[in-house]
Amino acid sequence: MALGIIIVSTVVFIMFAYSFISYRATKQEIVLRMKNSSNHSIVSLQTNTANLIEAYAINEYMRLLITEMETQDHYAILIYNYHMSKIFGDEFYVQGKIRASDGSIIDYDPQNQEQNKNLKDCFYIEVGEVKNSVGDKIGQIRVYITGDSLNRELNKIILTSLLQTLFISLLLVISLFLSIRQFLLKPLSKIVRVITHSDKDGIPLESIPSDGTREIAALSSSMNGMIDTVKHSRVKLKAQQLLLQREKDRFQMVIEGTNAGTWEWNVANGEVQLNHRWADMLGYQPGEITPFDIETWRGMTHPEDWAKSRECLERHFSRDSDYYQCETRLKSKKGDWIWILDRGKVATWTHEGKPLLMSGTSTDISLEKNASAELIKAKINAEKANRAKSVFLANMSHELRTPMNGVLGMTQLLEMSGLNDEQMDYCDIILKSGKNLVAILNDILDIAKIEAERQQVVHEPFSFRELIEPLVSLFIGAAVAKKINLSWVVDPKIKEHLIGDSQLLGRILSNLIGNAVKFTNQGSVTIQLALLAESSDFQKIQFQITDTGIGISQKDKKLIFEAFQQVDESSTKEFQGTGLGLAIVKKLVSLMGGTIQAESEFGKGSCFTIELTFQIQAQSFFENIPEQIAPNHDALKAKGLRVLIVEDDEASMQVIGRMLAKQEMITEKARTGKEAVDLAKEQKFDLILMDLVMPKMNGFDAALAIRDLQDCMNQKTPIIALTALTALTALTSQQDKAHCQAVGMNDFLTKPVDLTILNETIMKYC
Ligand code: ADP
Repeated sequence: MALGIIIVSTVVFIMFAYSFISYRATKQEIVLRMKNSSNHSIVSLQTNTANLIEAYAINEYMRLLITEMETQDHYAILIYNYHMSKIFGDEFYVQGKIRASDGSIIDYDPQNQEQNKNLKDCFYIEVGEVKNSVGDKIGQIRVYITGDSLNRELNKIILTSLLQTLFISLLLVISLFLSIRQFLLKPLSKIVRVITHSDKDGIPLESIPSDGTREIAALSSSMNGMIDTVKHSRVKLKAQQLLLQREKDRFQMVIEGTNAGTWEWNVANGEVQLNHRWADMLGYQPGEITPFDIETWRGMTHPEDWAKSRECLERHFSRDSDYYQCETRLKSKKGDWIWILDRGKVATWTHEGKPLLMSGTSTDISLEKNASAELIKAKINAEKANRAKSVFLANMSHELRTPMNGVLGMTQLLEMSGLNDEQMDYCDIILKSGKNLVAILNDILDIAKIEAERQQVVHEPFSFRELIEPLVSLFIGAAVAKKINLSWVVDPKIKEHLIGDSQLLGRILSNLIGNAVKFTNQGSVTIQLALLAESSDFQKIQFQITDTGIGISQKDKKLIFEAFQQVDESSTKEFQGTGLGLAIVKKLVSLMGGTIQAESEFGKGSCFTIELTFQIQAQSFFENIPEQIAPNHDALKAKGLRVLIVEDDEASMQVIGRMLAKQEMITEKARTGKEAVDLAKEQKFDLILMDLVMPKMNGFDAALAIRDLQDCMNQKTPIIALTALTALTALTSQQDKAHCQAVGMNDFLTKPVDLTILNETIMKYC
C-alpha cells in the first residue's frame, strides 16, 4: 500500500512538473504571439492612419480600428491625434475602440473612469508613433492587451494538461501496480509464506523459492544461504550446549562427590549465593538462611577464626597469595561449631584492581580435625611412651653398669691376687663376658639416645693422625690373632688439623673396622682415606673399610642398617653382636651430614664407604690446650699418693678403693659432694676422683665449691670425674666434658673403671 502511494505520488509529481514546465513555455509563446499581433496591428495602422490623421479623416481611421479590433483579440486600440490636439488646444486628442464587458466593440470615452482603469490594468501595451511623409510625429497608436485572453488560452492548456496528466498517471499507476504485483508482491508473498512456515526456533522448514525477478532470485538465494548457515550454527550450538551440559553435570557431580558447599560472593555489595550443600552442612534447609550476605557469614564464624579468615582474604586480595584458603569454625543450626575448610579465588576484578566477584567451596573437615586431634593425642602418648622407654633404658643402664663396675673391677683385682692358671682363665672369661655385656649396654643406650634425638654433634678441633692411628691400632691385636692383614692408607692431602666431632667419627670407624675384622677369617682388612673435594674452608673425605671376609648377600644388604638386624643366624652364633652397630653408624653419619654405602659380595668380602665433610682448622687446637689440663709426665709416683674418692655407690667405692690400694696409694672416702668439700678444706690430696651423680650435692657442684674455696690447699688438685652417664637422662658425654672443664675438673673416666685406664689417668696428672 505504502509502495503504491509512493509510486502514485511520484508519477503525479512528475506529471505536474511536466505540466508546469509546458504551461510556462506555452504562456511565453502566447505572450509572444500577442505581442506580435499587437505589433503587427501597430505597423498596419501606422501606414494606414498617417494620411488619415493629416486629412483629419477621423471616421476613416476609426473604421480601420474596428476592423483591426474584430480581427485581433485586442482590448483596445487608441490613437492620439496631435493635429486634432492642436486644433482643440487639448493636451491629448484621443479616439479609439475598446471592448465592453459583453465583448462588443465600443468607442473609447476618455471621461469614462472604468474604461481608463481597465486600460491601466492591462497586461500589455504596445505603442507606435505615426509620422507624416517628412517624418514629423503626427500621432501615436496604442494597442492594449488584457490578461483575459491570455488566461483563457492558458486555462485551456491547463485543462488539457491536467486531463492528460491524470490519464497518463492512471495508466502508469495501473501498469505499475500490475507489474509490482506480478514481479514483486507475488514472489515476496511466497517468500513470506515459506518464511512463516517455520519450526519452533523460527527457522523455515522449506527452502525459499527463487522465482521472480533477478533481484528476488538473488534475495531468495542469499536468504536460503542465511537459513543454511543458521541451521548449521544451530546444529553446532546444540552440540556445544550438549557438551556444556555434560561438563556442567560432570562438574556438579565432582562438587557433589567432594561433598563441598559452593559460594559466590559479590565483594562490592556483600551479597553471597550459596548452594544447597552449603546450607545442609550447617543443618539448614535450602533457602532457610537467605538472604545471606557477608555479615551473616561473619555472624556464623567463630570469633577466634574471623581475624585469621580476614587475614587470608587480604593476602589474596592484595595478590600475595594466588587463592584464598582458610580453616574456620561455623555455627550450625543446632549451635555447635563445625570445622569448615574454605577455598576460593577472585574471578573478576574492577578496573582499579579491586576484587569484584569471588567464588569458592566450603568443605566440612570436622572428621579430619577430630581425627587429627586424636592423632596428636596418640602422638603425644606415643612420645610419652617413648620417653618412658628412654628413661627406662637410661635407668637400666645406670643400674646395670654400676654393678658391672663392681664385677669387672673386682675381677681385675682378683686377677692380681695370685691365682693359679685355671682361676686366671675363669677370671679372663668373666672379664671378657663382662666387657661384652657393657658393650651391648652401650650400643642399646647409644641407639636409644639417637632415636630420642638427644645425640649432639660437636664441632671441635682434632688431630686427624692422633684419631686414626690409635683407633686402628686397637684392632691390630685381634687382626694378628686371626692372622689377617690390617693396613691403612691416608691421603697426604688430608689436613692434619680439622674441626668436627672426632668422638662420633671414632665410634663410626671403630664400629666398621671392628665389623671388618670380626667378619674376616682370612685375607685382609684395608682402611683407605681419600680427599674427595676441598675448598679453602672445608675438606670432603672418603673413608673406605674393605675386607675379604664372609661378605653379605644382596638380600641381607637391605637389612644391615636396620636396628637389631643380624643377617645370618649362623654367623651370629660365630660372631657376637647386637645387630645395632651399623644402625648406630648410619644414624651418626647422617647426623654429621655425611653418607654411607655398603658394597658386598657374599663369600668374597665387603666394602663400607663413608663420605664426610670437615672444616679446616685455622690453627692447631693443641697449641691452645690450657696449662692445667696438660699432663705432667715427670710426677709419676703412684706410691703414697693421697687420693680422695667421692662416690655414693658402695660397690664402686670398694672397687676403686681397692684398685688404688693395690698401687699403695692412700685413699680417703666421701659419700656425698658436701663431705668431699669438707674433707678438701681439711686435708691436702694429690688427686680427687669425683662421681658426678650423687644425692644432695652432685660432683659438678662439689668440684666448683672446691675450686672456689679461698686459700684451700686443694684448689689446684687435679679432679677426675667418674661418670656412668652416657644415658639419656643426663648430659651427653661431650656436654659432660665441657661441663667438667667449666667447673674446673681436669679429666673424666667412664664407669666401670678399667684398672689400666685408671692408672694411666692418675699417672697423667700426678
Ligand atoms: P653386629 O653388632 O651384630 O655386628 P652390625 O649392625 O654391626 O651388628 O652388623 C649387622 C650385620 O651386618 C652383622 O650381623 C653382619 O651379619 C653384617 N655385617 C656387618 N659388617 C659386615 C662385614 N664387614 N662383613 C660381613 N658382614 C657384615
